[in-house]
Amino acid sequence: MIVFDPVYLLICIGTTLLALWASWRVKHAYQQYSQVPASSGLSGADIARRILDLNGIRDVVVEPTQGLLSDHYDPSNKRLVLCEENFYGTNVAALGVAAHEAGHAIQHQQLYAPLQWRMAAVGITTIAGNIIPFVGMGLFYFAPKIAIPILALCFGVVMVFQLITLPVEFDATARAKRILAHTGAVAPGAETAAMSKVLDAAALTYVAAFISALGTFLYYVMHMLGGQRDNE
Ligand SMILES: [Zn+2]
Repeated sequence: MIVFDPVYLLICIGTTLLALWASWRVKHAYQQYSQVPASSGLSGADIARRILDLNGIRDVVVEPTQGLLSDHYDPSNKRLVLCEENFYGTNVAALGVAAHEAGHAIQHQQLYAPLQWRMAAVGITTIAGNIIPFVGMGLFYFAPKIAIPILALCFGVVMVFQLITLPVEFDATARAKRILAHTGAVAPGAETAAMSKVLDAAALTYVAAFISALGTFLYYVMHMLGGQRDNE
């Protein structure tokens, strides 16, 4: 029975610990460096708007939301959403996050290929994500031979999505660092170093998510191949 498989248990525990560690690191870095004020005096909302304007992006609205670190760029509705702490915050962490989200808006404007792939893959990834618990809980017990290939396929879709997310996130962070240095919103030296630590910690959560998806995908692929060998 696969549920009590020690390899599966190890993958589950390992990936959970990895995700917890990555999210702890980003929260810790954010808490620490949101205490570092930016000498430019700009808020996250100010710098986001300025970056959009500098790139001629007038149709994207910058708006606040509740929920710490729920910042995101919504390409379908052209909204750059910052949590209130970052929208109003004038610290280097707030500016870093705001510039990162503006980086996604620039990617969208420039039709940056990995962002286009990611947007195209959202629908199928959502479907795969909905199938996984259904097949994992139900079909698995009654027909594991059918369930395992379906799970391998679904986790494969999730893994590819997480893989495409990596260049999108790393590129947005690289753009943010360049723009903040170029505009002088974050001063060189200690301010820039602190801002980089927050963005690098955030990027690590995406690497952790990819490793988790890859580990689970490979597990089901190995099971599938193992099952086929047993039948031969
Ligand atoms: Zn991002």
